Amino acid sequence: NSLPADKTLENTRRQVVDACFSYVTPKKTAKPELLHVSETLLEHLGLTKEDTTSDEFLSIFTGNKVLENTHSYAMCYGGHQFGNWAGQLGDGRAINLFEIDYNNEHWALQLKGAGETPYSRTADGLAVLRSSIREHLCSEAMHHLGVPTTRSLSLSLTGDQVLRDVMYNGNPDYEKGAVVCRVAPSFIRFGNFEILAARQNHETLQLLTDYTIKHFYPEITSEGKQKYLDFLTAVRDRTIEMVVHWQRVGFVHGVMNTDNMSILGLTIDYGPYGWLEDFDYEWTPNTTDAQHRRYKFGNQPYICMWNLFKLANALYPLINEVEPLQEVLDTFEGLYIEQYSKMMMQKLGLSINGDYVELISSLEKALQLIETDYTIFFRNLASISKSDTTAKAIEKITYAYYNEEALQGEVLLQWKDWMNNYIEVLQNETIEDDERKVKMNSINPKYVLRNYIAQLAIDDADKGNYELIDELYQMLKKPYDDQPEYEKWFTKRPDWARHKIGCSM
Ligand code: AMP
Ligand code: MG
Ligand code: MG
Repeated sequence: NSLPADKTLENTRRQVVDACFSYVTPKKTAKPELLHVSETLLEHLGLTKEDTTSDEFLSIFTGNKVLENTHSYAMCYGGHQFGNWAGQLGDGRAINLFEIDYNNEHWALQLKGAGETPYSRTADGLAVLRSSIREHLCSEAMHHLGVPTTRSLSLSLTGDQVLRDVMYNGNPDYEKGAVVCRVAPSFIRFGNFEILAARQNHETLQLLTDYTIKHFYPEITSEGKQKYLDFLTAVRDRTIEMVVHWQRVGFVHGVMNTDNMSILGLTIDYGPYGWLEDFDYEWTPNTTDAQHRRYKFGNQPYICMWNLFKLANALYPLINEVEPLQEVLDTFEGLYIEQYSKMMMQKLGLSINGDYVELISSLEKALQLIETDYTIFFRNLASISKSDTTAKAIEKITYAYYNEEALQGEVLLQWKDWMNNYIEVLQNETIEDDERKVKMNSINPKYVLRNYIAQLAIDDADKGNYELIDELYQMLKKPYDDQPEYEKWFTKRPDWARHKIGCSM
């Protein structure tokens, strides 16, 4: 590792200056137990299912054994939280184990919830089972949806009790502790650059930037200032790609602070995230953001841009000119709109040659007139044919409405209007119904990790029943396929789960 390490080796909470990371050893756990492993990720790492049954696998991936000749560490980063500079944050409960190269892929493996680090601040460095199930399942679901993301190799119980809440009667509400092994080419975030810039440590800032470019953006071959501008441009493009995918599948991250923005444009830090059920730009799964709704569904692209401005500020000392940085970011909006429109046309099954701006924006309006399930709407839309009457076509998507009776009067008129236009457009397209359906079904998922579904797996796990975790994992591995055995999960959020939201921590 060519980046400067913290010279203090003691694991005490502190400000770590002049360094990018601190060496720290994971905490030993009381009674580790492996609950689930991602088979598809195992393969990428050159491991087999057989390997996961060994004591060694369990020990390594619960932090009870550090492999010889490896040096586990926690990274130093800062960040803007909810719009404000928060100073040093860092890996408060993530410990990087080692990195491997296999089949031309590079992976860093880290444990989340493996005990305190110099960056733990006032918290315990641990993770509870419920949030770990959410992170494990959602990372893998996102990957199989084709969304750039960090991965999750394993989910384990630690056997330790973790305190997050106090009950109404004042008694502590202990929860099962858990550890997840996260995997990504790198976990470097915008905040790693920001903390160095904030401390005016320009030498290390340059080292980190050069390191990131060399290892993760090898296609950048320019030099001097241009190199750093090209880097910002590349991060911008990957970030746009990521957020267009989020809008496509209805994923709402919930805490898009700059410390949760991957420099590789990967979805990272699955906390109070949620999945859009009825299409609603105002929706956020994060209770702590319920008032300002900074990170609501409709704001995600804008927040990406805001965060890129913070990254640009951090890189400024390497460039020393405002204008070229500004130029890179001024193009964000145009690029985003272009890619978003292209993505929406694909969701609608249209060829990318037509001008469908009006059709898309009128659909977005219609979707908000009446609670309409985003996933089910697009999935069922694929079964409409050119020869359908408007009434017949509406019938095919009616199941997506949460309250079918509300489809009347002005609302019904507007929906009829939209559907009329859509059928007309389909008739003008050369693509046949069957072929369009296949295309639409390969971009509009049938199965996503709806909030209530994740909660069912959590409730079961609390009672010691872990089977649903694998059932959901298996289903979410093929989100675009019709899987008759999982048909029961292709359903609207039940009424009891209405307005229930994601949980964090
Ligand atoms: P997050 O909101 O999850 O992005 O976390 C913000 C910061 O708090 C990061 O520096 C985390 O590492 C840290 N953090 C979150 N939860 C814990 C915890 N249980 N123990 C220590 N640090 C934590
Ligand atoms: Mg975080
Ligand atoms: Mg978190």
